[in-house]
Amino acid sequence: MKLSEHFTLEEMLHSDTAEKKKIENRINAAEVDNLVRLCQKVLEPLRDHFHQPIHINSGFRCQALNKAVGGAANSYHTKGRAVDIPMRPGWLAYIRDHLPHTELINEGTWIHVAL
Ligand SMILES: [Zn+2]
Repeated sequence: MKLSEHFTLEEMLHSDTAEKKKIENRINAAEVDNLVRLCQKVLEPLRDHFHQPIHINSGFRCQALNKAVGGAANSYHTKGRAVDIPMRPGWLAYIRDHLPHTELINEGTWIHVAL
């Protein structure tokens, strides 16, 4: 299922940990709506600006998956409001200066952004 022009629900739900631990990463409609908003307001504009595809390292996490990966309790990942994407030159500053975000964290090799 497409969330926006270039992003799918499948890539937001994919998790190696979930597969390994047989966790069903189940999402509800409100959380899907949040992902759509994140794609439209942050990921698509970022992709457009840099003309580069964006790999989703981690998108939505149900409570069980979030616990399994050691995520913070109440993480925006559990609400469909956060993604982790690779760190690329210019991306962090562009999000900080030009795109809406509730959280923006430099994780070294990746960027955590929430809306
Ligand atoms: Zn994150």
